[in-house]
Amino acid sequence: MADLGRPASKKSNAKEAKFLSRLVVAPDSNFRFSKRKPDQTFGWDKEGAAVELAELLARIDLLQQKLAAESRQSLLVVLQAIDASGKDGTLRGVFGPLSASGVQVSNFKAPTGAELSHDYLWRGHARTPATGEIAVWNRSHYEDVLIVRVKNLVPEERWRRRYRHIREFEQMLADEGTRIVKINLHISNEQQRARLQDRIDDPNKRWKFRVGDLEDRKLWPKFMKAYEVAINETSTERAPWYVVPAEHKWVRNLAVAHILHHALTEMDPQLPPDDPAMLGVVVE
Ligand code: ADP
Repeated sequence: MADLGRPASKKSNAKEAKFLSRLVVAPDSNFRFSKRKPDQTFGWDKEGAAVELAELLARIDLLQQKLAAESRQSLLVVLQAIDASGKDGTLRGVFGPLSASGVQVSNFKAPTGAELSHDYLWRGHARTPATGEIAVWNRSHYEDVLIVRVKNLVPEERWRRRYRHIREFEQMLADEGTRIVKINLHISNEQQRARLQDRIDDPNKRWKFRVGDLEDRKLWPKFMKAYEVAINETSTERAPWYVVPAEHKWVRNLAVAHILHHALTEMDPQLPPDDPAMLGVVVE
């Protein structure tokens, strides 16, 4: 096993970048879910992936501490995906082990009255990460071009303008020092069916199931279309989308950890210089 917490070598960073080029959606690339396999394993095996994930999490932990100590830049991770795709499991498996003081998770539920009485970016803007922090959005402002589009919650002329607003909002955050990565967890229609059924059958998971999930499931083709449009319209150099194969939970977690590690490595946070007054001080 590699030294935990040590920075990764240049070679392994290059390997990581190459791997991520298979997940990222390049701007103007006409992304389609049908071009990707949701049960892809990249030739990994489960045991090896568990070891690699532990190593990566140790490195991410150190990078996160440096990010906090440096306190000049921030990271926003958008986790946006269809029901039962594994958002909660990803939060537990990849972000759960990190220091709670430096990682803020926000859940974007159906908007409240106060949220509805503001513009749709208001609630997200209030939850952007402060310098030194990582914010993870469990669902996001993308709901306002996904469920809102699929269910006609506002007139088309309004949601159509939102792709441009979102690109500009994210560009502004990036200009002001926030790194942005956006992650979509990709599962098949059959996998969603099986997972929803499991939620009904397993008493420990039943609380996760809402009858409304079945109504949303009937709208699967419309959701897929809305996701494809949103991803194509808003995957930019500064705020790229990654589509992660999520049918195997161990593949999903390792892939998301690589996305996080790669972003933090590129941000390259630096520890502040030593205070000369501290040098040589002996604590009694
Ligand atoms: P989750 O499915 O994320 O575990 P919930 O079961 O509470 O959590 O679902 C949250 C619901 O809120 C989802 O159906 C989502 O589409 C909906 N939602 C989130 N944001 C909005 C929005 N801006 N407008 C309408 N519905 C939204």
